[in-house]
Amino acid sequence: MKRAIFPGSFDPITLGHYDIIKRGVTLFDEVIVAIGVNADKKYMFSLEERKQFIEETFADEPRIKVVTYKGLTVDFCKEIDVEFILRGLRNPADFEFEKAIAHTNRDLAPIETVFLLTSADTSYIASSIVRDVIRNNGDYTKLVPKSVKIK
Ligand code: ADP
Repeated sequence: MKRAIFPGSFDPITLGHYDIIKRGVTLFDEVIVAIGVNADKKYMFSLEERKQFIEETFADEPRIKVVTYKGLTVDFCKEIDVEFILRGLRNPADFEFEKAIAHTNRDLAPIETVFLLTSADTSYIASSIVRDVIRNNGDYTKLVPKSVKIK
């Protein structure tokens, strides 16, 4: 069985993430959306909220799982016995950043990173932009799955 982990902060999940995850399950038997926990980082949404948004979004898709993890992504991959890391690429900046991480990960463990190019209609979406729209009372609903709601 081919399984991939899709790691990130998902603060919150966007339609860009959604697109990569949906396309990911056409390539892998299981896609594990893994929310990385970084104690030094300030988030807009709590870990529970971020997890719930993703779980609700994929409630009808048993091949998409949601977990949280601490520490290095490759260590977590080894722990749950996953061979692939799935990542999305939007632009040259993503490419440079992802290249360095993927090379480092390959030095640390025999885990392949698989990249999917963003879809044209979601290529501009980033969680940071969504947070900005929310902070400024804009209509964020066009950028995120329906499950993302502000209290
Ligand atoms: P980070 O890892 O910086 O916390 P995110 O949680 O936002 O970033 O993203 C996790 C993954 O989703 C990354 O591979 C990122 O490139 C990808 N991603 C984010 N937004 C999009 C998008 N609009 N289209 C494609 N991939 C995306």
